[in-house]
Amino acid sequence: MIAAGVTIGSLQTALPLGALENRILLCHALGITRVGLITQSERTLSDVEAATLSTLVERRLHGEPIAYIVGKREFFGLDFQVTNAVLIPRPDTELLVELVLERLPPQGRALDMGTGSGAIAVAIAHTRRDAIVTALDVSAAALDVARANAAVHGAAVRLLQSDWFAGVQGETFDLIASNPPYIASGDVHLSNGDLRFEPLGALTDRADGLSALRIIAAGAAAHLAPQGWLLMEHGYDQAAQVRHLLQEHGYSDVQSWRDLAGIERASGGRAP
Ligand code: GLN
Repeated sequence: MIAAGVTIGSLQTALPLGALENRILLCHALGITRVGLITQSERTLSDVEAATLSTLVERRLHGEPIAYIVGKREFFGLDFQVTNAVLIPRPDTELLVELVLERLPPQGRALDMGTGSGAIAVAIAHTRRDAIVTALDVSAAALDVARANAAVHGAAVRLLQSDWFAGVQGETFDLIASNPPYIASGDVHLSNGDLRFEPLGALTDRADGLSALRIIAAGAAAHLAPQGWLLMEHGYDQAAQVRHLLQEHGYSDVQSWRDLAGIERASGGRAP
């Protein structure tokens, strides 16, 4: 589709994607930085480069998320490796990290449930070197990605393969955080955009959207130190239900917090 011999400069506007995505795929295909796009703008593409770039553009036109194509996404100022075994980290989820950082005591023990790429756990451990961070996921493939991300960022994170609380029997934490699957089965969002390519088990509980949130709210009480915080991300319309759930289980200081779009995106409370 893209011919060898065209200049790098001309391609930045000639590709069929938006300006930002054109640049990202050009840099990735050619192995150069954004500065390289400028300094090499008169250089022409080789046959191999043209073929590589064509393949990447085709994948994007087919709907594949740009983060999977280039294998990374920035979150909390850090580059995270991503594969299609993990959810792509969302800017919304930075709220959860900020809430954790404000509440984790010195040398605090934090648990991230359903860590996926490890974004939440690695951001915490990277920012707070004193923290003792555990992250779990049921998916071995996700844990491989999380392990790579922890290593790249020199973040001390203990990783466990565990179906929710099964792997942390008898353990206590000062804070538990989670961005669990919370989209209800059949929600139209699952069949649109990036979500079509993301692991279904990271997005939906295949039920009413609240079942993972229920399991975590019910189980966390037995794994939290007195007054320890449980903080959970949830869907745009689930805040009232999640607050209710937390109150039912006896948590105190139950409240919700808004993301940058003004949507109640996370809720939490202190251990009963
Ligand atoms: N925030 C994601 C979305 O709506 C869903 C993430 C999740 O289910 N934990 O695209």
